[in-house]
Amino acid sequence: MAAAAQERYEACPENKAIGAYLGLAVGDALGATVEFMPPAKIKALYGVHESITGGGWLGLKPGQVTDDTLMSLVLGESILKKGAVDASAVAQSFSDWFVNNPVDIGKTVKRGIIHYRYSGTPYVAENSSDAGNGACMRTLPVALATYGLSDEINVKIASRDQAHVTHNNPLSDAATECVIQMIHAGLTGCDKYDIKHGPVKQLLNRFPEFNYFEIHREMPSGYIVETMQVVLQAFFTTDSFEDCLINVVNRGGDADTTGAIAGMIAGCYYGLEAIPARWLSQLDHAVADACELQARALLALEYGKAVSA
Ligand code: MN
Ligand code: MN
Repeated sequence: MAAAAQERYEACPENKAIGAYLGLAVGDALGATVEFMPPAKIKALYGVHESITGGGWLGLKPGQVTDDTLMSLVLGESILKKGAVDASAVAQSFSDWFVNNPVDIGKTVKRGIIHYRYSGTPYVAENSSDAGNGACMRTLPVALATYGLSDEINVKIASRDQAHVTHNNPLSDAATECVIQMIHAGLTGCDKYDIKHGPVKQLLNRFPEFNYFEIHREMPSGYIVETMQVVLQAFFTTDSFEDCLINVVNRGGDADTTGAIAGMIAGCYYGLEAIPARWLSQLDHAVADACELQARALLALEYGKAVSA
């Protein structure tokens, strides 16, 4: 490809948006195989885990994704239908999804859905002790739908409207908004220096517990701080989508979710063409098609302009 054409291709937000969505699904499918394992066990079983083979504690089919991708698709569908994040519509969509016996669901997500069913209220109360990663893992559709919104406050409102259906916690909010800003920066074509000294620095200034430079973290739990630490370590210490994802999932722990979040950030940053073909071809085809369609539609959405009653 000629240099000028290459540059245009790389700056194309659509290519980056699709890369982010397929990156999320690939990271989820790759990581799910080793979810909850310690790195030593992964090493004993696989050497380096780098193939989408299914299995894991959920007994997945090769290429099957989990709640991280499926809740993103449900959320994205709701945003497209309403033209914006509408908390009641999101809560109802999550509730409908839960009815169909999902292969996996987090305990905080389940509690939020049950709360909605009993109260009709699409927000849970603030919970200072429960900073799980479940709102952050599904945030990509919000990032794509709000790309280009000039007012940061409206982006935050959109993020919290979906997050608080199940997770209402300042650390979860801050990390989720940081991931949205990292995706926006990636779509714009920012380099890693800008991302590190922009959204990531802002997060660390507000909540120093996210500091990720001091210890090499393995076996991250579902606690958003540990999740973000391994995602940031993997993203900033590698130079390709493939290396970033291999780095993060081989740390084990909540590997489908760290894979999903690293996958959306790295997929956006490096673009669709950086995702290894062997991973894309192993991914569940219906899911891959849905991710691509949604990425295009969410990016094209005029956010906040109602599209249906
Ligand atoms: Mn999962
Ligand atoms: Mn998980």
